[in-house]
Amino acid sequence: MSHKRLPVCLKFTLLFVIATSLSAAFAQNSSSIVVFAPHPDDEVIGCAGIIMQALARGVRVKVVAITSGDGFPAAAAGVAHKAVDQVGPDDFFALSRFRQMQSRTALGILGGKADDLIVLGYPDGDLGNLYESTDDKVIRQQFTKKNETYASIQKDYHTSVHGRPAAYKRSSVLGDLVELLTTLQPTEIYVTDGTDGHIDHRAAFWFVRDAAKQVGYKGAFYTYLVHGLPAWPFPTGVTPNLPFESRKVDGEVAPRALPWPPPRRVPLTPVEAQRKLKSIQAHDIPVVGMPQHQSEMESFVKSEEVFWTPLASSR
Ligand SMILES: [Zn+2]
Repeated sequence: MSHKRLPVCLKFTLLFVIATSLSAAFAQNSSSIVVFAPHPDDEVIGCAGIIMQALARGVRVKVVAITSGDGFPAAAAGVAHKAVDQVGPDDFFALSRFRQMQSRTALGILGGKADDLIVLGYPDGDLGNLYESTDDKVIRQQFTKKNETYASIQKDYHTSVHGRPAAYKRSSVLGDLVELLTTLQPTEIYVTDGTDGHIDHRAAFWFVRDAAKQVGYKGAFYTYLVHGLPAWPFPTGVTPNLPFESRKVDGEVAPRALPWPPPRRVPLTPVEAQRKLKSIQAHDIPVVGMPQHQSEMESFVKSEEVFWTPLASSR
């Protein structure tokens, strides 16, 4: 063993120990779930019921926030009590800390533990740019000026495993996702749908789909819809006793480009729906200029959660 190779060996030994201990932990229950959220809050909007029901059955659940949640100027302004045009990098760092703490609190409401939340720490608002960056160039996020992963309430995933952050580039995102799927060995994956109106949500789907293909993933692959087009969800408002509905908006069927009824509908009891509402309310942010923001999130409280299976036909 040469002197130069020693650190590499140590790194792989460390990786092996981490992978082995995680695998051992997950082997206790044959099924395990990973919910990928582009931003800290999407996981409860789409999957609070799935998360609480799985945890109640003793199934392992990991929530993976792909971005730090640091790219929403109106929310940064709300947290900092400033006008939207006055916010700077520190305000976006404060926002990301705020949103990650909210995700940890929400997960606790659903029965999860703090270490069930993994933050990859990629740039909010730039996932689409990263996915489309075929030359793998490093991106600098416009609001924080950061060009490498970070998490505000814990170590970001790459730093926690590799001892240093990952550069904001396409191969880093894919590499972290491939490594996570290899380590966690989920039997069910949940990620935002590829028809979502938010580019980060579509890119999260593309990245997770590509990572799943790369590792030869054979488990269930479900998508959930947050920013459905042309509008979503229906009916609007907190309606814990009503299912999701498809509606026509200006002559167009919503949600767009997705089969209805959805291929998977998971019923929520009234008690579970109320718990979902609490987990969404844990994400309350005074968003400047968007007073309806919170009520839009709460409209996802229904008597069910709905999922699509876009990869099922390609298998
Ligand atoms: Zn989102």
